[in-house]
Amino acid sequence: MSTVTHEVPESLSSFLAQPKQLLINGQWQDAASGKTFEVINPATEKVVGQVAHGEAADIALAVQAARQAFESGPWRKMTPSERGKMIWKIGDLIEKHNDELAQLETVDNGKPFAVAQVADVPLSADMFRYMAGWCTKIEGNTIPISVPYAPGANFHAFTTREPVGVVGQIIPWNFPLLMAAWKLAPALACGCTIILKPAEQTPLSALRLGELIQEAGIPEGVVNIVTGFGDAGAALAKDDDVDKVAFTGSTEVGKLIVEAAAGNLKKVTLELGGKSPNVIMRDADLSTAIPGAASAIFFNHGQCCCAGSRLYVDEAVFDEVTAGIAEQARSIVVGNGFEADTNMGPLVSKEQYDRVTGFLDRGRTAGATTVCGGTRPEGDGFFVEPTVLVDTDEQMEVIREEIFGPVVAAMPFSDLDDLVARANNTTYGLAAGVWTADVTRAHQIAKAVKAGTVWVNCYNIFDAALPFGGFKQSGWGREMGHAALDNYLETKAVCISV
Ligand code: NAP
Ligand code: MG
Repeated sequence: MSTVTHEVPESLSSFLAQPKQLLINGQWQDAASGKTFEVINPATEKVVGQVAHGEAADIALAVQAARQAFESGPWRKMTPSERGKMIWKIGDLIEKHNDELAQLETVDNGKPFAVAQVADVPLSADMFRYMAGWCTKIEGNTIPISVPYAPGANFHAFTTREPVGVVGQIIPWNFPLLMAAWKLAPALACGCTIILKPAEQTPLSALRLGELIQEAGIPEGVVNIVTGFGDAGAALAKDDDVDKVAFTGSTEVGKLIVEAAAGNLKKVTLELGGKSPNVIMRDADLSTAIPGAASAIFFNHGQCCCAGSRLYVDEAVFDEVTAGIAEQARSIVVGNGFEADTNMGPLVSKEQYDRVTGFLDRGRTAGATTVCGGTRPEGDGFFVEPTVLVDTDEQMEVIREEIFGPVVAAMPFSDLDDLVARANNTTYGLAAGVWTADVTRAHQIAKAVKAGTVWVNCYNIFDAALPFGGFKQSGWGREMGHAALDNYLETKAVCISV
């Protein structure tokens, strides 16, 4: 285990030294109250910067700016091609500043710099480029109609797709830049204007992205960024001048968003939690299934809504698989994300550390056995060692609740029908994994499992073109792919008597 030594890189110091303000109507400004809050590096527990503490008053200003930009700014007058070029440029600027953005993710979220460099940042750039291409391809239809009570009349009927309007977007801390990209890119492609509320734990990369968005030429008021806490998010979800709210985070807060949105019946999309089943069949190639299942849960320290946290293993290979995953877990180097050999950083915050270790304590009390991990390494930082639990069943909290940490619970199965019922025995439905050499069985399970994404002989494969989202209480709507455009468009039917 490497010890925590690294401080914030010199190259970031000047960015962090400046006061981090809110972006409202193209101007960087302090919160109306003048208040700020601290940003903490979860690997060292040290304060790395101060960020403006936006509240309801700032949300109101940002909504006003977004409304103005939507109704009368240059944004809506631009051609789809002009809009697309600007959005593409955001992707280019993200790519150009890859290392800096990746460093910000490491400082703020704790994830390894090397991972953010190859995953978070390039995926974010791709998302803007993918959506840039859609600007010129958002089309309606012409529709032949046969109105029974208008015999002999002729109509020319068609649909157009229009931006939904002013959009509030509330994002979490697990992939701070990427979640901003998943939200902003499709909304911009559709011609909406936006108020983005980053997570209080990880506001930095969104603020740097705000600067890049300005550099790309996006007009003022189109993207507004208000850093703050849950009350700022709540004000945004409630605001009657917001036409749509898009949220990623806990199912609990997702339900509050739905309630808050009822006031003006704003459109809502939600990307919420998960407790995803990952199934290893006896015929699977264990040399890929074992590291694959380990990565399915340990990637991003288990702080993934789609983490493969419930591992179902055919009883014939259960011992071999759990021993193999424990071996993988023990080989993971937990440490500061700036150290070259680190594979896993800290959890994002003290709150998440307490939450995850609380689940572990209660799980052990309820009878779960820890095969490996489950403890905190020496020293500062919110580190939790990758953990494999066995002796668990579907009644236990560790199987029912989303832990959102590096904790996998393995359970044996013998019967396939029973397995599918157990895999679906959850209020969630975000993702699932299947490892098998039998293509028929892979299709059968992929069809039977109630989840928005099914990975076969792979896990955590993301692409800007592939829709992602939840069945059941994992959410409403889809992100990425052309499905994401539906979140930000209204359909208008026009009927002309000719
Ligand atoms: P959370 O409370 O759901 O936070 C997500 C976002 O919602 C943050 O920007 C948060 O602001 C904001 N928010 C909080 N309360 C709000 C409210 N009443 N109205 C509108 N917005 C509000 O998530 P968390 O507390 O950070 O994490 C708790 C658990 O949520 C995790 O352990 C995990 O199980 C789940 N989670 C899921 C995802 C996912 O990708 N699906 C991501 C993160 C967390 P603040 O940051 O200021 O609170
Ligand atoms: Mg932080």
